[in-house]
Amino acid sequence: MPSITRSKSSRGPDAHREPRSVPAPDGGQPIAPDDPALEERIHALGTEFLELARRHRSGILSAAFWSEKLIDWAMKDEAFKVQLFRFVDTFPTLKTPEQVHDHLVDYMSQPGVTPPPGLGLGLKAGRLLKGAMSRTVTRQITSMGERFIAGVDAASAVDQLEKLWSRGIGFSVDLLGEACVSEAEARVYQGKYLDLIRSLPEAVGRWPANERLESDHLGPVPRTNVSIKISSLFARTDPIDFEGSIAGLMDALGPILEAARDSNVFINFDMELFEHKDLTLELFMRCCEAVEFPAGLAMQAYLRSGDDDVRRIIDWARKSGRQVTVRLVKGAYWDYETIHAEEQGWPVPVWSRKAETDACFERMSARCIESTPRGPGDGGVKLALGSHNVRSIAYGLALLEKEDLPSNAIEVQMLHGMADQLKAAAVEMGLRTREYVPVGEMIPGMAYLVRRLLENTSNESWLRAGFHENVAPETLLACPHRTYSTPDPGVERIERGPERHQLTEAVEGVGENRPFSNEPAREFSQKEIRERFARAIASAKVPEVKANATEDDAEQALAAAQAALPRWRALPVRERSAVLVKAAAIMRRRRDELSGIMIREAGKVWREADGDVCEAIDFCEYYARQAVALFEYQRLGRFIGELDQVIYQPRGVAVVISPWNFPLAILCGMTTAAIVTGNPTLIKPAGPALGIGRVFFDIMREAGCPADVIQFMAGPGRTVGAKLVRDHRTALIAFTGSMEVGLDIVAAAGQVPRGQHHLKKVISEMGGKNAIIVDASADLDEAVLGVRQSAFGYQGQKCSACARAVVVESAYETFLERLCESTRTLKIGDPLDPAVDFGPVIDNNAYRSINEYIEIGKSEARLALAMDLPHESRLAAGRDYIAPHIFAEVPAEARIGNEEIFGPVLSVLKVKTFDEALEVANGTAFALTGGVYSRKPANLEKARAEFRVGNLYLNRPITGALVGRQPFGGFALSGVGTKAGGPDYLLHFVEPRSICENTMRRGFAPGI
Ligand SMILES: Cc1cc2nc3c(=O)[nH]c(=O)nc-3n(C[C@H](O)[C@H](O)[C@H](O)COP(=O)(O)OP(=O)(O)OC[C@H]3O[C@@H](n4cnc5c(N)ncnc54)[C@H](O)[C@@H]3O)c2cc1C
Repeated sequence: MPSITRSKSSRGPDAHREPRSVPAPDGGQPIAPDDPALEERIHALGTEFLELARRHRSGILSAAFWSEKLIDWAMKDEAFKVQLFRFVDTFPTLKTPEQVHDHLVDYMSQPGVTPPPGLGLGLKAGRLLKGAMSRTVTRQITSMGERFIAGVDAASAVDQLEKLWSRGIGFSVDLLGEACVSEAEARVYQGKYLDLIRSLPEAVGRWPANERLESDHLGPVPRTNVSIKISSLFARTDPIDFEGSIAGLMDALGPILEAARDSNVFINFDMELFEHKDLTLELFMRCCEAVEFPAGLAMQAYLRSGDDDVRRIIDWARKSGRQVTVRLVKGAYWDYETIHAEEQGWPVPVWSRKAETDACFERMSARCIESTPRGPGDGGVKLALGSHNVRSIAYGLALLEKEDLPSNAIEVQMLHGMADQLKAAAVEMGLRTREYVPVGEMIPGMAYLVRRLLENTSNESWLRAGFHENVAPETLLACPHRTYSTPDPGVERIERGPERHQLTEAVEGVGENRPFSNEPAREFSQKEIRERFARAIASAKVPEVKANATEDDAEQALAAAQAALPRWRALPVRERSAVLVKAAAIMRRRRDELSGIMIREAGKVWREADGDVCEAIDFCEYYARQAVALFEYQRLGRFIGELDQVIYQPRGVAVVISPWNFPLAILCGMTTAAIVTGNPTLIKPAGPALGIGRVFFDIMREAGCPADVIQFMAGPGRTVGAKLVRDHRTALIAFTGSMEVGLDIVAAAGQVPRGQHHLKKVISEMGGKNAIIVDASADLDEAVLGVRQSAFGYQGQKCSACARAVVVESAYETFLERLCESTRTLKIGDPLDPAVDFGPVIDNNAYRSINEYIEIGKSEARLALAMDLPHESRLAAGRDYIAPHIFAEVPAEARIGNEEIFGPVLSVLKVKTFDEALEVANGTAFALTGGVYSRKPANLEKARAEFRVGNLYLNRPITGALVGRQPFGGFALSGVGTKAGGPDYLLHFVEPRSICENTMRRGFAPGI
């Protein structure tokens, strides 16, 4: 049985000194170890490991990676690193040397970037040198890729695997590719895994036996080891539909696991994003219960939940009597998890200090080692240490000794292309060592490659410190367990977010005296959040509201509002703001129930409904703060003897006419803006959304808004709507809806009836025919999902929806094919079901009008996709459905490409160049939202300057504007240029007054 060498030198001259207390670069006070002898042993083993590894530096296992000029420069210059990695990510989509050169020059000339000397000269080269330059760069990037990726497929990597084996290193092959946008793609991945599992054992079966690699303390270990990423196997993986995702994944995995069982192939489940963590843990356990295959699972120590996660797997393994391997890693998506959590306002799931990750790694290692099965019949967890950090590995090795387990009870795993010296040292130390070997094409491999580049160049990287910067062993092996006197940066990042982002000023007396921050969406990956939501929507009731208001009712309401004006206007603005803040609090309390009402009434799916409530809360909180500043007297200049001031006053009686598609958010936004600025308001919600409209009205009343300041008018547009708009008392009309009604209101408001002594102000937000441009260098994984979401989210019934995809011809065929396949994976059904992505259209009128456009489309373009509806029993009873439709090769002048359809109909247009794409995108009467998927900085810049829409989104979907962050609204025939949720919005609800006082009396003025 192998054992870890205990050479004298490994103990070193300071072997008996007190445990080290080297402060980490990220601070913290070391905690004295519970077991000084163990700490001593960690240092001894670590020192030996390090010494052995450092001896290998100049051989074939050297750290050549860091000698690469580009990487070297990247580590010195952050701005260069960002652009280099972005270029590397784009590289596989570039087809010609000109494109390579063009993009490289573009990236390297971004502000603040200084390319390394050789590269700088090459970039300035004339046409002749362009080819040579592109070839050099292509070679460099290909060789970077080759360093981390062993081949395009398993067959091409077998030679490398065999070489590894001959050096005493085992393997785990991983198929690159982690996003699949359709079931068709998932099936391709499934086929590749099956091929791998069936063919690899034969290919490697001829190799000589290796006792160390093929057995552990309990018996044989399979020679073939495959790592899988679940995200590539089922396109509908989404924790919101936890059980559906598990079922779909188990279907996809079933044949793979059975083949693995039959061929004795070890299968390891990789761990990916935090949002899939619970799903992956559950899936793993259920798969193990369904099929007896040699099983392992990666677990991440950078997660704050790491201790609980590992306990869960250990408890299950013990209880069920299973032996599984935990490959303990720190985690590869740290940046993403931190950035994403902050964007969403969710708790950051990863530790924010590197030493905390390292400490958690040790705690998790300890739990695994304690639970290591001692005999073949014991249930428990075998540990594989997936790390290149000698301290982290040495900890596990030392604890193993302490627990009296042999060294082959543990395995050491490292990544292909990294830390070759450490692998050699591990082999020398007699450890079972395995390399994680990714294989696959460049495009799906880019995400993996960029992660490796980031990891290797990170300031926090142990490998960089150990082998590039040659930091002293004392520091490299320092104990990571610390206490901190400063606040946790990850917690602070979220908690102090409002102060850092300053989306508004902090206003004393409003919303806890803090600046505005967005209401975070529900984190549906969390079980309790999902379950609470499901319970709330199950019991939500849509109030019955009759649209039976009459013109007489309108008359009375207008009179009451007019009478309320002086009182409401005179109220201190903070009191009006307090009503909004209170309304927000009520909505927060009833949040999931409000979603339930919209799901039932308007056919929104879970996330869409939740987003609607969040936006409504945001409007209240945002305008409550904005209004206070607005109503302060502003002094202009500082002249002595002259006091110049501007103040604002409310306009008067406001009429809010709101749409059904954001039945809470838009109604709430327009109404609260009017009310907080002192205008008594009559609200007239759209017919199909009267229930939620009424609930909102009741909330405003409960929040303290007087009965004559907010009044509910449910009645026909032809009579009640027309009366409200035309009445002489109406001073302000806030409307969101169709262009026809919007233009009618603008025209009607232009009339000045008898008795009206003012001009009416109209805030009119109308439709769009929004385009997303897909450029030649677009990341198609993102573009496909972004266009799909923007076009078919809420059945395309958003004014911001994508109605046109304008695609540059080199990307056209692939994009269109993948988009159609991806759209096919959308689940159509009853939106009460969390699995459903796509619900009914709002009513029969919409149904008829959309169908008419589909017929027109058939005569104008090629119908590339008309999805089928599922069986009636799966649809919401009594509702009208239209499945997603995609038209291809749509001519620029086609009606379906120019007129607003307001339903799930997407036109795809082919163009030759990016410039032409811009021209087409700008070529309708609307200017609301627009998007660009491109990885060419110059094209993104051009879009900023020339893509003339109210809301432009680059490399992301074009719906879902957030209050305070993306003020929303368009111009041209999309609207009058007001921006809901932006700093200027409230200005439209008030009139400015300017006051000038001569403060000089008899030649004297204060302040001289
Ligand atoms: C065989 C193998 C399989 C792997 N499989 C997976 C997998 O399935 N899923 C996965 O996510 N990763 C996986 N990885 C990648 C692994 O997570 C990274 O290689 C690992 O993070 C590097 O850790 P280290 O111990 O080698 O290096 P170290 O340099 O000691 O640690 C680096 C890690 O520390 C963490 N870190 C960096 N800065 C901070 C900070 N400020 N606060 C807190 N933590 C910080 C990051 O996670 C970073 O990656 C695997 C690695 C190996 C070797």
